[in-house]
Amino acid sequence: MKSAVVRIANLVGETGCFRLLAPEVVPVFMLHRVYSGARSVAGGLPADTLRDHLAYVARRGYKVLTMDELLGMLEEGGRIHAKSVMFTIDDGFSDHFSVAARVFDEFGFVLNCFVITGFLDQELWPWDDQVSYAIQSSSCQQAKLTLPSGDPYLLDLVGDGINTAVRTLRDALKAVPQANLYQWIQSELFPALAAEYPSKVPPEFLAMSWSDASLLQQAGHGVYPHTCSHRILSTLTSDEKQYEIDHSRKRVEQELGKPPLVFAYPTGRQRDYDQRDMEQLINSGFKMAFTTVPNYVRKGQNLLELPRFSMPANSADFRQIVNRFEAFKNRLRA
Ligand SMILES: [Zn+2]
Repeated sequence: MKSAVVRIANLVGETGCFRLLAPEVVPVFMLHRVYSGARSVAGGLPADTLRDHLAYVARRGYKVLTMDELLGMLEEGGRIHAKSVMFTIDDGFSDHFSVAARVFDEFGFVLNCFVITGFLDQELWPWDDQVSYAIQSSSCQQAKLTLPSGDPYLLDLVGDGINTAVRTLRDALKAVPQANLYQWIQSELFPALAAEYPSKVPPEFLAMSWSDASLLQQAGHGVYPHTCSHRILSTLTSDEKQYEIDHSRKRVEQELGKPPLVFAYPTGRQRDYDQRDMEQLINSGFKMAFTTVPNYVRKGQNLLELPRFSMPANSADFRQIVNRFEAFKNRLRA
């Protein structure tokens, strides 16, 4: 029933009526992993699904924005293009260069990549992926942990199932001081799960290189910082916040030759960043920052808290965000 309603709404949406009823909004989508071929990546989007979504955008004549165009529209005196849409992808995995950007290139569309600079510098691989790797490679049924906060935590791989165990432990770790998170994963989590800490980054978690990032920029795509270590900013001290924001900005500038004006918060929920992070972003020269709060970007809102929609796998869900039916529904609810 619901899918029939969405299908009809999307047919109505093709007429452009929802854009008239909900003008002045831009949907910004966030991707994470994209894969081609039979080998899937957990939480990833198949390249063919991405291709179908972008074909719709091309067929319907939507304008895919660059960061500079979005900034121009949101700054004083700018006007939102009624058929605009934007795409971002977070973390800096190798598939962003080798798979995702290739699909965007087929359509001549811009992809904006937020990269963890320490990941591209080969100093680390993302802590959230290390947590899922540790749990997935364990044959334990349960593990008793002491979180970095000192609190006890029971990891129940059998009772909760692997996926829930990963999600709930990640959520618990997002709420504790993360200063020593990477050491904790290596010295506490892996041993508690009787799992071996990999000596090299597992192939499915490889980063793109800085020369990949440079090629992306030369091809017209955007590359912007997403901290150095992907730790949750709101759990860090002022010095650590400054380092994560300022140093990641410097690394992108050093490698790509121009100062980035845009940033994305790790995991990006409202509680994952705070006022001091936004002040640091201003001090470091940033003009815009993205969260992961699902909503449209609107004129007049705080440029340091721009929302993004997770890229839906389902085409009806994707289309109703693009054709602004979702904005119309939000307006009805309000
Ligand atoms: Zn991220």
